[in-house]
Amino acid sequence: MALVFPPQDTPTVAVAGSDDRIPVRRIFCIGRNYAAHAREMGRDPDREPPFFFLKPADAVVEDGATIPYPPQTENFHYEAELVAVIGKGGVNIAEADALDHVWGYGVGNDLTRRDLQLVAREQGRPWDLGKGFDRSAPIAPIHPVSKVGHPSKGSIKLTVNGEVKQDADLSELIWSIPEMISILSHSMELKAGDVIMTGTPAGVGPLVPGDVCVVTIEGVGELTTTIGPRA
Ligand code: MN
Repeated sequence: MALVFPPQDTPTVAVAGSDDRIPVRRIFCIGRNYAAHAREMGRDPDREPPFFFLKPADAVVEDGATIPYPPQTENFHYEAELVAVIGKGGVNIAEADALDHVWGYGVGNDLTRRDLQLVAREQGRPWDLGKGFDRSAPIAPIHPVSKVGHPSKGSIKLTVNGEVKQDADLSELIWSIPEMISILSHSMELKAGDVIMTGTPAGVGPLVPGDVCVVTIEGVGELTTTIGPRA
């Protein structure tokens, strides 16, 4: 057997304070996981069952990168998010055991072509082109649980060119990380290298070429992304 094409390099994210890298398997994202953001998106923040979507693993982008303004959008948005990395897979994981499956945590930005997402949403179509486009998942170096524990409260903040746009607390998550892991694992087998982006607080808004976007999560670090000219 020979491969017809060379396989692509495994997408990876950095480990904080180390030369090690984490191979990324899949990137799960949860919709509307902070009540104030659900409201700003015109939705009821009541605790209806969560929903998920995915980005391709090779959408990951390093901290400090400049990414070109993406094509096919006039409304390119930031979304500050806490990222959890699965280190031990499983199926039907109980909430009480879920945190044992987490390798570490980092800071992410769920970049979104909001205009494409909203058209898809209103037409009942998939979100892939609004959410899972190239370079749509900047993720800062991951801190192992052995260093940072399991953050369940603390500031999550996003600035654009130094101006605060999102300012919330991890304790406001509607669905906790153990709940998200348990729910996902009852639907699909989770494996090491799966990444979960845990939702964004209120205050989402546009980025334009030249913007510098910084996400900071208390105890988990910082992620800087610069927006370059249109691709
Ligand atoms: Mn998001």
